[in-house]
Amino acid sequence: MPHIAMLSTNQDNYAYILRLDGGIIAIDPGEAEPVFAYLEEEKCGLDLILNTHMHHDHCQGNIALKQATGCKVMGSDERIPRIDEVLTPGDKLPTPAQTLQILSTPGHTLKDCCYYLPPQGEHPGALFCGDTLFSGGCGRVFEGSVEQLFQSLQSIAALPPATLLYCGHEYTLDNYRFAEHIQPESLAVRRKRQQVEKLRRSKEPTLPVSLKEEMVTNPFLRPHDSALRHALRMEESTDLEVFTALRQRKNRF
Ligand SMILES: [Zn+2]
Repeated sequence: MPHIAMLSTNQDNYAYILRLDGGIIAIDPGEAEPVFAYLEEEKCGLDLILNTHMHHDHCQGNIALKQATGCKVMGSDERIPRIDEVLTPGDKLPTPAQTLQILSTPGHTLKDCCYYLPPQGEHPGALFCGDTLFSGGCGRVFEGSVEQLFQSLQSIAALPPATLLYCGHEYTLDNYRFAEHIQPESLAVRRKRQQVEKLRRSKEPTLPVSLKEEMVTNPFLRPHDSALRHALRMEESTDLEVFTALRQRKNRF
């Protein structure tokens, strides 16, 4: 069974430690210190770093961690610091990451990827989705196009509904405030915002969350939804037009 630990880094980032048969992987170590502290506490080494994209708050820890542990660094963008191998979808990852699959998810940057761990035994599977998808929201478009990001979210939406999402930031409360602002009539969204607010009041993380849950309340995964379209007065628009309007309004929120 996989074991996943979440570590707070920087202001509001999460790095993840994934323990699989054969070794230990750090995903998006935006800072080295919390990872070093984990390795010391657990008395273990680090075999591999995987990065979802090249932004500093996701890979700044690569340098010190690689230097101290000799781990390999992989990701889908050659701009990632200390990268050993640039990955493309379909590539077979080395041990201990051999069960992970690479999903190409451009939009936030041109070369974002997500790492998908398929279900294993009782574990429903996990997606490490960086800044592509957040609970209640999605990443900003820095280098790619809104259409690319839309397609990337569609490919995530096609994963098994029980998949647990491990996102790159704790942005959930802000995202659900926006979702409620857009759709004040939605009871599901209001309940979700209240639940998230309660967790944050006691400084608890709001992640992971299941894809199934997000499909009900995250507006960026629901551009087809008639109540959302009605709230936006975009009943006649395409899904991409609704998604684009949501992204633009969130940028200004
Ligand atoms: Zn980013």
